[in-house]
Amino acid sequence: ANLPKDRLRLAIQKSGRLSTDSLDLLKACGIKVKSPKEKLLLHADNFPLDLLFVRDDDIPQLVMDGVCDLGIVGQNVLEESALERGTTSAYVVERTLDFGGCRLAIALPEERPYTGLKDLAGLRIATSYPQLTKRYFAQQGVPAEIVTLSGSVEIAPRLGLADVICDLVSSGSTLEANKLRAVETIFKSTAALIRNARPLNPEKAHAFDIVLRRLDGVQKAAGTKYIMLHAPRANLTEIRKLLPGSENPTILPLAGDDSKVALHAVCAEDVFWETMDALKQAGASSILVLPIEKMML
Ligand code: ATP
Ligand code: MG
Repeated sequence: ANLPKDRLRLAIQKSGRLSTDSLDLLKACGIKVKSPKEKLLLHADNFPLDLLFVRDDDIPQLVMDGVCDLGIVGQNVLEESALERGTTSAYVVERTLDFGGCRLAIALPEERPYTGLKDLAGLRIATSYPQLTKRYFAQQGVPAEIVTLSGSVEIAPRLGLADVICDLVSSGSTLEANKLRAVETIFKSTAALIRNARPLNPEKAHAFDIVLRRLDGVQKAAGTKYIMLHAPRANLTEIRKLLPGSENPTILPLAGDDSKVALHAVCAEDVFWETMDALKQAGASSILVLPIEKMML
């Protein structure tokens, strides 16, 4: 491609579980891209970054080979790919992200009894993650025969292709629908932002620093709330103790009422209804909890 050399290239999933969250994250970082219709490659309008839309399975290799500088991919796919390649030195995990959460789990037909991993010795295990599965069984010292399938792993036992499966689970509803139950978790995963291990050229490195700083701001803000309330002066100490993860609140006088103050604070944790009830009990009133969009400390 005849792209200027100094634009970062980021691979993201074209369509699937990570696509919307990946694009939303870029948007939250102020990087604008037009909606990806049928295009393989898109240029961000307002940032030196190009997006390559691909299948998630291809992302680790694109980054490790240096075709893309960056990628957003599930750690499950990343680890599988690194094991297959036999090295983890071609990429760096820059940030783990708060979406794409799932676990790779061993699941059995509901009626099959299970007391421990040794019950699975010698069985056929269907999975799309042969490397991760093989490693787990080897580490546990249990022999198993791996049957690699690229999809629809959950129907393998019914088809007689395998005895048990090792597949991704998030809510568990797919397992339930197929009369399977998860018995062991072998890998926990979320999406991650990865980078090719070779240093970026100075121009790209500068752009990437900006991306990381914004990303950290977005991630930090996600669990943070801004709380405002009115508090009787007499109860201020008690009320301050109830605020989750806040350091020095701002205390302001209230016009025309000397017995109360307004308190504003950033809370490092989510503010739940229970906290609000407790604040109310302690005499607070006019309690407002606001989301924080971005944060830079
Ligand atoms: P592609 O067409 O890009 O290859 P895919 O079907 O392989 O898509 P998806 O099902 O979209 O992939 O899942 C992408 C990633 O989302 C998974 O690798 C995993 O990291 C994460 N994920 C989160 N929850 C789940 C889940 N319940 N099942 C599967 N993947 C999940
Ligand atoms: Mg895939």
